[in-house]
Amino acid sequence: MNILIMLLKNLWGGSRTLLFPARPKVTERFRGLVQFDPTRCTGCAICKFRCTSRAIDFKGGKGEFTWSYDPGQCTFCGRCVEGCKDHALSQESACPPVYTTIGELKKSYTLARKPPAPRPAPAAPIAAKAAVNATAAAPATNPASGGTQ
Ligand code: SF4
Ligand code: SF4
Repeated sequence: MNILIMLLKNLWGGSRTLLFPARPKVTERFRGLVQFDPTRCTGCAICKFRCTSRAIDFKGGKGEFTWSYDPGQCTFCGRCVEGCKDHALSQESACPPVYTTIGELKKSYTLARKPPAPRPAPAAPIAAKAAVNATAAAPATNPASGGTQ
């Protein structure tokens, strides 16, 4: 395209900047604000170690722990969500909120540690299981027949 035409289009094309509070449209899988579900969190702290932006803070205490999230430090990379095996984290598919003061969006939750889930009963050893299966599958032998020669 001719550079002059391009310049004229830019000069007379109007503003492309959105004025607040208008927000840009996002796609369905847009990664926005991290959402925390305290009922699912087990306090493993994996999310804190996966967050290289230090947006997530975790402090362990006796019988409780404090989980915090500051969207002002978040890059919305999604690493914390991917790493949470208990599905306590998710991401909104909306533009993150605007803030004017550092830390004003930060949220903290102090939660009681959950007792560990009961362990399932140990499974029977494989060799013992196989012996049981073989006995059940073998045909009953007739001692009177004397067998085959
Ligand atoms: S949010 Fe998930 S990864 Fe983070 S402490 Fe809770 S359970 Fe662990
Ligand atoms: S989305 Fe990324 S930057 Fe934001 S809290 Fe999670 S790991 Fe940290």
